Amino acid sequence: MCGIVGYIGNKEAFPILIKGLRRLEYRGYDSAGVALINDNGDLNVFKTKGKVDNLVEYCSDKNVTGNIGIAHTRWATHGEPSSLNAHPHYSQSKNLAIIHNGIIENYSQLRSRLQAKGISFVSDTDTEVLVQLIEFIQEEKNIDLLTAVQLALNEVIGAYAIAILDHRNPDTIIAARNQSPLVVGIGDDEYFLGSDASPIVEYTDKVVYLEDGNIAVIKRHDDLKVVNIQNRKLYPEIQTIDINLGQIEKGGYPHFMLKEIFEQPDCITNCMRGRVNIDTDNVVLSAVIDYKKQLLQAKRFVIVACGTSWHAGLIGKQMIESFCRIPVEVEYASEFRYRNPVICKDDVVIAISQSGETADTLAAVKLAKRHGAFIYGICNAIGSSIPRATDTGSYIHVGPEIGVASTKAFTGQVSVLTMLALALAKERGTISSADYLKIVEELHQIPNKMKELLKLNKRIADLSRTFTYARDFLFLGRGYNYPVALEGALKLKEISYIHAEGYPAAEMKHGPIALIDSDMPVVVIATHNAMYDKVLSNIQEVKARKGKVIAIVSKGDETISRIADEVIEMPATIECLEPLLATIPLQLLAYHIAVCRGKDVDQPRNLAKSVTVE
Ligand code: GLU
Repeated sequence: MCGIVGYIGNKEAFPILIKGLRRLEYRGYDSAGVALINDNGDLNVFKTKGKVDNLVEYCSDKNVTGNIGIAHTRWATHGEPSSLNAHPHYSQSKNLAIIHNGIIENYSQLRSRLQAKGISFVSDTDTEVLVQLIEFIQEEKNIDLLTAVQLALNEVIGAYAIAILDHRNPDTIIAARNQSPLVVGIGDDEYFLGSDASPIVEYTDKVVYLEDGNIAVIKRHDDLKVVNIQNRKLYPEIQTIDINLGQIEKGGYPHFMLKEIFEQPDCITNCMRGRVNIDTDNVVLSAVIDYKKQLLQAKRFVIVACGTSWHAGLIGKQMIESFCRIPVEVEYASEFRYRNPVICKDDVVIAISQSGETADTLAAVKLAKRHGAFIYGICNAIGSSIPRATDTGSYIHVGPEIGVASTKAFTGQVSVLTMLALALAKERGTISSADYLKIVEELHQIPNKMKELLKLNKRIADLSRTFTYARDFLFLGRGYNYPVALEGALKLKEISYIHAEGYPAAEMKHGPIALIDSDMPVVVIATHNAMYDKVLSNIQEVKARKGKVIAIVSKGDETISRIADEVIEMPATIECLEPLLATIPLQLLAYHIAVCRGKDVDQPRNLAKSVTVE
C-alpha cells in the first residue's frame, strides 16, 4: 500500500507534501518521511516512525525548505515499522533518494549481489535495494539517472510505484509504475505526484494516470515526458478529474467513517442516477447495453473480490441467481488466482474493488482474461487499474472513501449488483414484470429509508456503551442478511479489535452456540421476511443460553421486541434490498463501540485502505 506524494514548482514543497500525505494516510501509517532538495542543492531526508503528525513534529526544528520534494507514508511489508525502515531511502552516496509503494520480489538476490560488490545497506526494506541498484548501475556505466532507472527496473521483479530525487539534477523527479498506482498532476508551471488524485485535486484537475511500464520524467519548466523501459516515447492522455475538496475532507464529522456512513443516502442516489429511471421504472446500465451479447450468453458468473467487496459479492450472487437463473460463484481473489481455477470462454468474471487497485483482485482479473473470460469491473476509483484492465463495468459513484473500514462503498457495490441483476434478468426474461417493477420502485425508496435509519445514530451510540467491553461478538443472519452478518462482524473487528464472527443463523447450532453465555452479545438480523420464523427460533436458542440479543427488526415488530435485549427498528423493504438498510445500524454499532474504546476509527492498527500488495 503506502502513499506517495511529490511536488516540483515554485512554491515551498514541504507544506504541500505534508497535506498530501495526510490525504493518503489511509493507505498506510507505520511511518512517514520526506526528501527535499533545498536551494543549495542539498538532498535532505527527514523520516520517522508513526503517523504524519509525528513527522511534522519531528521536522519542527529542521530546515525543510526547497521547492522540489517527495514524501511517503508507509504500510510495511519488508522490515518492521521503524524510523530506519521508513521511506525515503538514500542511496549509499546519498546522491539519490527513493520512495516506493509495492514489493520487490527478487530483492534478496539483488541485495546479495550488491553486497558482494561492497554496497552496504542500512534498512531491512526491499525498497533500499532498488535505490542502491540504480546508483550502482549509474556509477558503473557512468550514465544519466533515467537510463540507470530503466536498466535497474529491467532487473526488478515485483510491483512498484516509485519516485526518485537526485540532488545533482535538482529540477527533476523521476517516477515509474508497475502494478502500483501513480498519478501526475499538471499545474501551472508546477507538477504534483500522488498514489491517487487526492493530494492533487486542490491544485489542479489535469492529471495523467501512469500505466504499467511507464516512466515519467517530471522536469521544472518543461513538458511532462513519459517513456517506457526501452525508452520509447509515450503520449498519455491528460484527463480532467471531477473530485472536489469537500469530498475528501471531514466536513464537520469527527471521523471520515461517520461522515461516510451518513453520506450513504446521497451516495446511493448518485449511484442510481441515470441508471434507475424514475419515470419509466427501468434500469439501464450502459455496460449491459454495450455488451449485451457477452453478458447474455454467459453460462456462469464468477465474482472475485476481497474483504467487504467479497461480502457484497455474496449478496450479488443471491440476486443474480434468483433473478437471472445463472449460476454464480463467489471467490476470494487471493484464493482464485492461485488454485488453477476452471475458467471458460463463456464465463463472465465480475471483479469488485473499491479502490480498483486491490492487487489480488487485479491479478484474478488478468488470470481470467488470459483464459478468455469476459470481465466486468465494479469499482469506485475512476481510472484505477481494475477498470482499465476489464472489458466493461460500472462505477459505484460514491465519491472518495477515506475511512479504512469500508461503508458507503459496500452499499454502492450492492446497489450496482442489484441494478446489474435486474437489467440482466429483464434481458433474459427471467423476472416477471410485476417483480421487476416492485424492486425498481422499492430501490427508489432506499435513500429515504437510509435517512430514516440514520436518525437512530444517537440510540445506537447509547446502546454501544453497554457493549464496549465485550470480549466476543456473534453476528447472525440468513439468506440475503447472512453476508450482512459477515460484514457487521468484519466492521467490528476492524475498528474496535473485538473478536467477532458472522454466521448463517442456522449454522450457529453446529458450533458457535458453544460460545454463548451471559457475556456474549449476539447481533441478529431478524427482519420480517420469509425467514422470520426460523430466525425467531434461532433467537430463542440464544436466549435459552442467556446470550444478549441485539436484534435488527422491521418497524413495528412486537414479537422479537419482547424477547431481545435490545432492538433496532428498520424501515420495511423487500427482502433482496434489506442488506442496503440492515448494514447501516451495524456500521454505526461498530463505529460507536470503537469510539467508546478510544480506538483510531479511521486508521485502525495493521490495516490500510487500498491493498496493493498480495
Ligand atoms: N515494500 C516497501 C516497504 O516495506 C513498501 C511497502 C508498500 O508499498 O506496501 O517498505
